[in-house]
Amino acid sequence: MTPRLRAGLFVLSAQVVLASVEASAAEPAPKPFVVKVHTALVSGTPVASEAWLASQWDSVRSLLGPAGLAFEPSLAPAPKQPIPRSLETRADRDLLRAFAVPKVLNVFVVEALRDVDEPERQRMGVHWRAGGIHYVIVATYAVPGGAPCPPQYRCSEHSGLLTHELGHFFGLGHDPRADNVMSYSRAGRALWFSEPQKSR
Ligand SMILES: [Zn+2]
Repeated sequence: MTPRLRAGLFVLSAQVVLASVEASAAEPAPKPFVVKVHTALVSGTPVASEAWLASQWDSVRSLLGPAGLAFEPSLAPAPKQPIPRSLETRADRDLLRAFAVPKVLNVFVVEALRDVDEPERQRMGVHWRAGGIHYVIVATYAVPGGAPCPPQYRCSEHSGLLTHELGHFFGLGHDPRADNVMSYSRAGRALWFSEPQKSR
């Protein structure tokens, strides 16, 4: 066999392998990501209501489902130490690593989350890396008398928050276009992902 013919056969067999990978990827039921949700408590009450969590997951399913992603969320086992209700520093965010369940997607829900780069600001969520793992943190600002909703957000209406942070988890950066899930700019229309974002 000439080297050229051998190279041609190699390319052909690689294409067959790729085609079979694509065929299996096109099957309808994607394997869901197992998600453990860790919710901080204030006086024994979760900082996120069931309705708040349900609206976040509705948004995740409607926006990430068409991209072929499925999720199987459930509550994490009750921790021995309480999850901090308010995260002020990088070290606070790092500490959550101790609560993370191995080999699943961990989502932490807290009352308040300070911006560690601009400490005068509060944030709604972050995708955080610590000690070789990464996880998502979202804040609700829903505790009566607790930390108020940051002025730049409408916290109770922010149903795309978890979807945005999961976008970061899966490698998406910010997008400047209004109402894109990965944008900070909101014009009040339905949230959307672009086709290139969906195919990532
Ligand atoms: Zn972001």
